[in-house]
Amino acid sequence: MMFDLQYLRRLTETAAPAKNLAEVLAKAEALEKLSLEEVASLLAVTDAEDLAQIRQSGFRVKQEVFGPRVVLFAPLYLSNRCINNCLYCGFRAGNRERQTRTLSPEEAAAEAGHLAQLGYQRLLLVTSEHPDTGADYLEAVVRAIYERAAIRILHLNAPPMSQSNLRRLKEAGLGVYQVFQETYDPECYRELHPSGPKADFSRRLAVMDDAIAAGFDDVGLGVLLGLHHHRFEALATVAHSYYLRDRYHLNPHTLSVPRLRPAEGSPITTPPAPVSDPEFLKIVALYRLAVPTAGVVVTTRESKETREQALGAGASQISAGSRTDPGGYSEEGKTSQFEVEDRRTLEEVILDLVAAGHLPSLCTACYRSGRTGVRFAEMAGAGEIAAFCQSNAILTLAEYLAAHSSDGRFAQAEAMLQHLLEEIPDQKLRQSLARKLEEAQAGARDLHY
Ligand code: SF4
Repeated sequence: MMFDLQYLRRLTETAAPAKNLAEVLAKAEALEKLSLEEVASLLAVTDAEDLAQIRQSGFRVKQEVFGPRVVLFAPLYLSNRCINNCLYCGFRAGNRERQTRTLSPEEAAAEAGHLAQLGYQRLLLVTSEHPDTGADYLEAVVRAIYERAAIRILHLNAPPMSQSNLRRLKEAGLGVYQVFQETYDPECYRELHPSGPKADFSRRLAVMDDAIAAGFDDVGLGVLLGLHHHRFEALATVAHSYYLRDRYHLNPHTLSVPRLRPAEGSPITTPPAPVSDPEFLKIVALYRLAVPTAGVVVTTRESKETREQALGAGASQISAGSRTDPGGYSEEGKTSQFEVEDRRTLEEVILDLVAAGHLPSLCTACYRSGRTGVRFAEMAGAGEIAAFCQSNAILTLAEYLAAHSSDGRFAQAEAMLQHLLEEIPDQKLRQSLARKLEEAQAGARDLHY
């Protein structure tokens, strides 16, 4: 076993709320690794004031590592035909009511092109598990999108597959490979995944080892909050992250916090182990404190209000304008994987982020310049990403504004860019960025450091 789930179970059951809370939080804010025992003691906290301190600490670490940036992306659902039967999912094989749809590579490229026109530069491809949507199909989709749409980086959320298939997909140009364990409790896992290849708990648990062996240096982890006791699940997610770091010197690139939402045709309509808003925000902060360089991702499963609170607790990436049905950006009416709570468009999300003092980032420069995996984590851990990426984030927002703004509705965003430019202490960088901003205004694209 890569990490001891029984020990994590005992730790969850016996951990008391951190008595030395200030000391543990100071350690995390100094970007020192927390022990699993310290993580468990933070997860045991229930006092409202202590929870507020944990959230504030999560936000400070996020600012230290990433600055004011909030990374934006959209999911692109490719297929809802699935041979698995996850009881919480609208795509499951047992949902006789579902309307299935698989995008051809050409259709996927058209959806990606539509999203690129709206301003997106990074997309997360999402697919269910079916023999027709394996590595051959995914490789064709990735190549079609890069050839035909102005999307700069594609990430992938897809079922486990062989190392050789993963290697092919990495070579086709994917960035992050994401697989959620759903639950780290083997018994709960067995009950909720009764049939199909996904019923194999161990196969799923080992997928990141295969992905790393296949050349992915950026991987994404997560559990589906609401299936099982959240303290155990969050602790196990951190333990999995520590395992990857200890064994491969890689932190997960992303830690996602999906909370179970109702899905059409799913027998599970309410979460078996509900996670309250304060618990959810505690987990967001906890991931930030335990794995400071990870992108903590909150999707449109959550409401606008909860997502704003999550940003204040240390989240650093959000999806925007999402559809969870294949073809949903240009068509209507196919079965979606779950109900979306935040229905704002990309533009609305950008305007709201700016109003709240965040810097919306559509940046993909690290992928274009090869700053991935260990290299990214080392720079982030040394606090270099905040300064480095800020200029790139400013540039991508400037490109977005140049392409989409003509009637003054982005005045606050333009003022923010000007203010951030003036605040750059390094004169050379400031002058160089000012020149690039003029180029962006004149129509230049894909400018980055
Ligand atoms: S969660 Fe994924 S694997 Fe399970 S039924 Fe849904 S699409 Fe298929």
